[in-house]
Amino acid sequence: MTDISFAGRVAIVTGAGGGLGRTYALDIARRGGAVVVNDLGGSVEGPGAGRSMADAVVEEITAAGGRAVASYDSVASRAGAQAIVDTALETFGRVDAVINNAGNMRVKAFEEYSEEDFDAILRVHLGGSFNVTQAAWAHFKARGYGRVVFTSSSTGMYGSELYACYAAAKAGITGLMNVLSLEGAPHGITCNAVMPNAISRMTDMVSAELAERMGETAMAEAAERMAVIGDAMSPAFNTGLAVYLASEACTSTHAVYSACVGRIARVFIGATEGWHGALDAPASAEDIATHFEQICDLSGGVHIPQGPGDEFQIVLARPQPAVKP
Ligand code: NAD
Repeated sequence: MTDISFAGRVAIVTGAGGGLGRTYALDIARRGGAVVVNDLGGSVEGPGAGRSMADAVVEEITAAGGRAVASYDSVASRAGAQAIVDTALETFGRVDAVINNAGNMRVKAFEEYSEEDFDAILRVHLGGSFNVTQAAWAHFKARGYGRVVFTSSSTGMYGSELYACYAAAKAGITGLMNVLSLEGAPHGITCNAVMPNAISRMTDMVSAELAERMGETAMAEAAERMAVIGDAMSPAFNTGLAVYLASEACTSTHAVYSACVGRIARVFIGATEGWHGALDAPASAEDIATHFEQICDLSGGVHIPQGPGDEFQIVLARPQPAVKP
């Protein structure tokens, strides 16, 4: 494999003032790309703002001989997103890749979430991904090239207690990616999502919150399990995946990938072969109860539909029973 280069390319990395985003920005710059290092510079929960986080990463890049510019705008507003893309266009004249990585976090039992919590989380994760990608989209289409990396999460794709708002946003991001990958395909735009796993200030905040809720014994057991993992929970173990998906070498679109302590895997929505009812009469609730095991049975294989049409194809390819079984 030849080295993956970003020479002549311009990438926007949102939330790049620390954690995972910082490593994406540094690696792209090291590979010759110019980077917009975007970070609002607020707290993990969301409030606050500051320039020092983005500035520090820009300094790190320029000290190493790379090209970078800071952006302190919030991804959560359309105006902020437009300003981030304008920074790329005004400073470097183009934009080739967007890594939607910015995020905030709140950890609560479902009944504790306020309307403000919901808005704050959804606006940054899902809204931010929508806003920044949309601001760059016309530019991508006009040039027939674009790379978009979204950031989902195992909490959204699999489920995890205490993350109702965050998980809803992260699952929503994969929905956005699914549609944009199809709309972008004729224009040379690829869209994929990553599900990272890394210790960062965000996970430090989560650990502190969980410690309070779970008690010391459960946390000590969790810490013991994590100790085995060691360095593989550092952000660097996630960098290669996001940078590959943001690069010209990327051949993937419309997919979600998990990075988990050194293992990279594709994650997908699957459908069982299911139970095929009759076409001439709708299945009753009793029919569903009778055939429930077959509906859930994985032994008949799993389909991975790439769109609503695929599911129709699966059904229409089957010989249909003429009468209600
Ligand atoms: P982090 O807190 O270090 O990074 C998030 C960055 O986003 C912060 O620097 C923050 O200042 C910035 N940010 C927050 N709101 C912003 C806004 N409105 N506009 C611009 N920037 C904003 O945490 P991290 O772990 O590096 O997380 C990076 C991304 O990866 C997040 O989207 C997170 O949800 C996701 N993620 C992380 C993990 C993990 O294990 N660390 C797991 C799954 C998903």
